[in-house]
Amino acid sequence: MRHKGTIGGSIANNDPAADYPAACLALGATIVTNKRQIVAGDFFKGLFETALADGEIITKVTFPRAETSAYVKFRNPASRFALVGVFVAKTAQGARVAVTGAGSSGVFRWKEAEAALDKAWSEASVAGLKASADGLNADIHADAEYRAHLIGVMTKRAVAAAR
Ligand SMILES: Cc1cc2nc3c(=O)[nH]c(=O)nc-3n(C[C@H](O)[C@H](O)[C@H](O)COP(=O)(O)OP(=O)(O)OC[C@H]3O[C@@H](n4cnc5c(N)ncnc54)[C@H](O)[C@@H]3O)c2cc1C
Repeated sequence: MRHKGTIGGSIANNDPAADYPAACLALGATIVTNKRQIVAGDFFKGLFETALADGEIITKVTFPRAETSAYVKFRNPASRFALVGVFVAKTAQGARVAVTGAGSSGVFRWKEAEAALDKAWSEASVAGLKASADGLNADIHADAEYRAHLIGVMTKRAVAAAR
């Protein structure tokens, strides 16, 4: 039975519901390959798509130390993959909120939540925020509006966990 994977394999695959892409994007990771260094914001390009060229191999991933961070996901009860997962990080460059499982183009940053958390890092700061359903996945598991709702709930829980 297959029960192990690598961080390189996960981010190279860039499944829209994968966990590690959210960690890389929120923490501002640098993806090191046999050819160059790519910041996470430039690495994830779309569904199962990355900046990697043919034959380019990830050799290392580095993460700057965040002041605090947490990841919370709402799992699909059957697959256990994230229906919506939110990684929040308080970094030297400010708050970062990365969302996986929801976007039709894969992992993305929720800038409105980041701006709110930059004002004050607390659950209250994000409690009233509603993510837009535009561009979110809709399938038999959840429609776009439900995923948008979950983004808000998971963000609040992640901020609480990070405190
Ligand atoms: C039983 C099971 C449970 C899982 N649970 C989760 C989960 O809870 N959360 C989650 O996020 N994902 C989960 N996954 C998905 C898993 O993270 C991905 O399948 C991941 O790709 C596995 O990593 P791997 O190292 O085996 O890569 P592989 O599956 O071997 O490779 C994936 C792709 O990446 C390429 N690749 C691999 N390594 C590199 C590298 N170093 N540089 C460049 N390209 C590379 C391969 O060529 C291939 O195209 C699960 C998978 C399985 C089978």
